[in-house]
Amino acid sequence: METLQNFIGGRWEEAVGEDVVAVVNPATEEAFAQFRAGSADDVDRAVAAAGAAQPEWAALTVARRVELLHAWADTIAAHADELAELECREMGKPVGIGRTFVAGAVAGLKAAADQALTYPFSETVTGPASGSEAGSDPARERTDIVRHPLGVTAVITPWNFPVVMVLGALGPLLAAGNTVVVKPSERSPVSSARLVELAASSGLPAGVLNLVLGDSRTGAAVTEHQEVRLVHFTGSVGAGRAVGTATGRRLARSVLELGGKDAVVVDAGVDPVATAQAVAFGAFINTGQICTSMERVYVHEGIADEFIRALTTAARTFTIGDGLDPATVLGPLVDARQRDTVRRHVDDAVHKGATVRAGGAVPERPGYFYPATVLTGVDDTMLVMTEETFGPVAPVTVVSSFEEGLTRAAASRYGLAATVYTDDPDHIAAAARLPVGVVWVNQWQGGGPERLYEPARDSGMGATGARAAYDAATRPAAVHIAAADPAVAR
Ligand code: NAD
Repeated sequence: METLQNFIGGRWEEAVGEDVVAVVNPATEEAFAQFRAGSADDVDRAVAAAGAAQPEWAALTVARRVELLHAWADTIAAHADELAELECREMGKPVGIGRTFVAGAVAGLKAAADQALTYPFSETVTGPASGSEAGSDPARERTDIVRHPLGVTAVITPWNFPVVMVLGALGPLLAAGNTVVVKPSERSPVSSARLVELAASSGLPAGVLNLVLGDSRTGAAVTEHQEVRLVHFTGSVGAGRAVGTATGRRLARSVLELGGKDAVVVDAGVDPVATAQAVAFGAFINTGQICTSMERVYVHEGIADEFIRALTTAARTFTIGDGLDPATVLGPLVDARQRDTVRRHVDDAVHKGATVRAGGAVPERPGYFYPATVLTGVDDTMLVMTEETFGPVAPVTVVSSFEEGLTRAAASRYGLAATVYTDDPDHIAAAARLPVGVVWVNQWQGGGPERLYEPARDSGMGATGARAAYDAATRPAAVHIAAADPAVAR
């Protein structure tokens, strides 16, 4: 069995923590790797190494940092197959899908790093600043805004997209001159360890990127460390609250990307079969373990029968199996706990009167599998409609109008994203007002690095995309110069 270690200041070292955590292949239920969970001492050493490396990293030119990130991205691309296979073994994602997402994450890392080349790390605001004392002389004054890196930052990730989550957070943090301690999910640490190894072999200086393995206690030690100026956290609402509380207490920043219960609203005028196939993809791909999976489906009564038939047919094409097998479309859930959540939600719905159209039962085989499941006759009180399921379940509600669909879509404590299928301009305008971070119209997912958004309600805090990630990764300081010689202020 492989033993994983922490990567601190450019060296692999075993944690001093006592607890040994096993990494289990969810398709076989067999442990294949293990590690010691990082203690507060391990976190302290990682933060110290990141702190020691930060001034030199920040002193490099932006162009040099971006160049080093590109070199790392290219190395990752060359190891895409290997990383997709590691992800498959640690959390079940079929290799073909994993490869696509690794390629997307590489492109995302490069695009995010490139934004540093045009980001205004230093800019001059002409004229006297508002609030200057009476009698100030614009000809002799200048205000500069200088955006400094924060220092040591941390990235804490979930298991559902191990490579995507780590790379998605790191680009702006590193390109802006911060150093980072990464604490990946205890359920999927293997690919993260490999990413860090590839960074070192691509020339990223020692201490710039550090890795501490562990569970929620290790995450808490990272979050509570006084020297960590920003925690970029992706995970559940409950853990996000704990992170936000801990960083708030010590006046450090946090960016919180949390869970969702995304709705999809299907209008009367759309092609019911093509839309049902798109919804099947949005609900079932990655075994439903995507924060923006379609978890509530509201369909107009005018096309409901045909749509439900097509969705049920599509669900049956999601073949269950080990993700190492190219025939597999639907890998296992990450572990028994996650499958129990899915089973509990479906059983609750059935108990309260829902009808199972496809799936709905745990198959008799090893591995934490659950089939693509379509439910009808659901109501908004069922767990499957109120709590994040994070599994391959599409609960369908028939509505009498698009407006009713939107109203019910908005009635959630989550506010991550929503998708609507309609070509009616008024309906599109109404959908844009949904209380969510992202609205997709006629196409689930999409949008490049300029996609600026902030999750609404319990789904998180802190804008990402476009320049927002750089704003979060830097602290602006104003430098106001009043010079005796006007030439100095020019
Ligand atoms: P989780 O909250 O259990 O764990 C996420 C990470 O946080 C892990 O590394 C874990 O060890 C750590 N952690 C747990 N408790 C902590 C604490 N108190 N302090 C610090 N760290 C702590 O989430 P999960 O089950 O791994 O992931 C699934 C969740 O992530 C779902 O809710 C999903 O919607 C969400 N998610 C959100 C996004 C997004 O972009 N909004 C993306 C992917 C996943």
